Amino acid sequence: MALPDRNNPYNFDEFLAWRRNIDYYRDDAFLGKVLRRYAGASWASVEAAMEAFSPKVSLRWRDIADTIAAPEKRPYMMHYDGHHHRIDRIVRPAETLVMEKEIFGEGLFSVHTDPWVRLTKLFLIYQNGEACVACPLVCTEGLIALLDRYADAPELKYILKHCKEGLDGRFAIGAQYLSEIQGGSDVGANVLEAVQEGSTWRLFGTKFFCSATHADYAVVTAKPLGSEKVALFVIPSWLPGDKDKEKRNGYTIDRIKWKMGTSELTTAELTFGGAVAYPVGPLDRGLANVVGIVLTYSRLTVGLSGAASITRASREAAGYARARTAFGMNIADFPLLKIQLSTLERAAKRTAAGAFKLYHEFLSLPGGLKGGMSMDEAPDIRGKRFAIRELIMLQKIAAAWDATDMLRLAMSVFGGHGVMEDFSSLPRLYRDAAVNELWEGPRNVLLTQIHRDFQRASTWYAPAQFVADILTSADPATIAELAQEMEALIGAELLTPDLKALQTCEQWDRFCHTLFHAYQDQAVAEVEG
Ligand SMILES: Cc1cc2nc3c(=O)[nH]c(=O)nc-3n(C[C@H](O)[C@H](O)[C@H](O)COP(=O)(O)OP(=O)(O)OC[C@H]3O[C@@H](n4cnc5c(N)ncnc54)[C@H](O)[C@@H]3O)c2cc1C
Repeated sequence: MALPDRNNPYNFDEFLAWRRNIDYYRDDAFLGKVLRRYAGASWASVEAAMEAFSPKVSLRWRDIADTIAAPEKRPYMMHYDGHHHRIDRIVRPAETLVMEKEIFGEGLFSVHTDPWVRLTKLFLIYQNGEACVACPLVCTEGLIALLDRYADAPELKYILKHCKEGLDGRFAIGAQYLSEIQGGSDVGANVLEAVQEGSTWRLFGTKFFCSATHADYAVVTAKPLGSEKVALFVIPSWLPGDKDKEKRNGYTIDRIKWKMGTSELTTAELTFGGAVAYPVGPLDRGLANVVGIVLTYSRLTVGLSGAASITRASREAAGYARARTAFGMNIADFPLLKIQLSTLERAAKRTAAGAFKLYHEFLSLPGGLKGGMSMDEAPDIRGKRFAIRELIMLQKIAAAWDATDMLRLAMSVFGGHGVMEDFSSLPRLYRDAAVNELWEGPRNVLLTQIHRDFQRASTWYAPAQFVADILTSADPATIAELAQEMEALIGAELLTPDLKALQTCEQWDRFCHTLFHAYQDQAVAEVEG
């Protein structure tokens, strides 16, 4: 092989220059069309807000997210200070603190922020992966939704204001602690105890997966002493006046976990030894409220962040393929690569369009999901509420699954460079996406839940009706085929110990994915006009 220069001049500079200047909003023509289709009257305000916002997230916060992902920047614990006071300080890099202040300072959950501006900003923020902000943002959103409904006591009203509008120039951060060592999916099996002493509730026991441990407040599930029902509480991480002293509110952070993804964020194991807690909502409705309100937002976010990471992966893989050559050809011109790039583009479009369409439907629901079904409601609105609840779970499992698949595919376009953490952000986004598959309801749990919901609702809402309601503009043959299959699957059992149930499970898993893809493809068709 002829060597043009023994000091090999090859470099990636052209690709890097292109990538460095990407503007997540301006360079995404499809996102503009999605917003035009679903944001309605808010479209103009979204456009104006993104002018100022997009450069911050696409350039400044993108670089900070990359910087804090380095192993030497990982957060760590300082359990004691130099005078033997237990402080349980989570030490995070200065860059994380700066970015967190800037992002929370946007007042995303304020009454003054248009929901579509918020959603679009979040979509752009999630393109940078977890970065110690994605999980805290959605936990804060869930906490606010809960308190918007139930904040009656002065302490809860204060917490709501602190999270939603900020106090003394600082917006508070929320977390949610549900999972215990014996099981995360089965929240009803929680054993953490809540004890009422006079007018004060205190928590005793352990929680095993506590992310966003640096938060100011957390939603905690616990069983009031003597009750088998899970109740919901909110705890401040520090009681008033104690934050500066680093004296935590009656709990210890025993250790932080060493995990594969979302590594810039701590996930900790906690022991509660009498933490002061404020009850939220009826004590016997904790499970319904945490699933119906708090987890609704988390699951919507998994859908949106799946769309965000696939969008970024598709864009960067296409840019790299245009820049790279092999065997004297541009790699984007190899037919196998062409197919992969178009698979990525299709996945990015369908996941984004589906997420924005579903959000549009969620916003149009009077009173939100309401944390449960009421047979007193008129059948049409009850059916709509039920359909959206199921769509949110379907989106959670489909988008989370697709995100890992698509990120792996995008990484393969980069060849060996695809797995290099300092070549692109895709390996980090891939590791974060793997976590998204597991939290907020793993796939099997949600598949089982959706099946159970439809069996229970079958006397007033037929599966075929659901398919017709969600696929209003799809091709009639597809609707008929999916409706028939769903009727048969809901008529069968998933949990009986026989071969038939195993086959039903396999088919149900595949069916749910196909059905949600049909919903997403309909959204793409609506957007493309
Ligand atoms: C990085 C990370 C951070 C986390 N942060 C938090 C947090 O901040 N707060 C919090 O509360 N939790 C958090 N979690 C916990 C997470 O929500 C749980 O891991 C999840 O709910 C699953 O619980 P589990 O791990 O105990 O699995 P299990 O419940 O033991 O499930 C194990 C397997 O059994 C399947 N399974 C369980 N039940 C059923 C069923 N009924 N039907 C069919 N299959 C079933 C599951 O799908 C899974 O495949 C975090 C998890 C991770 C990975």
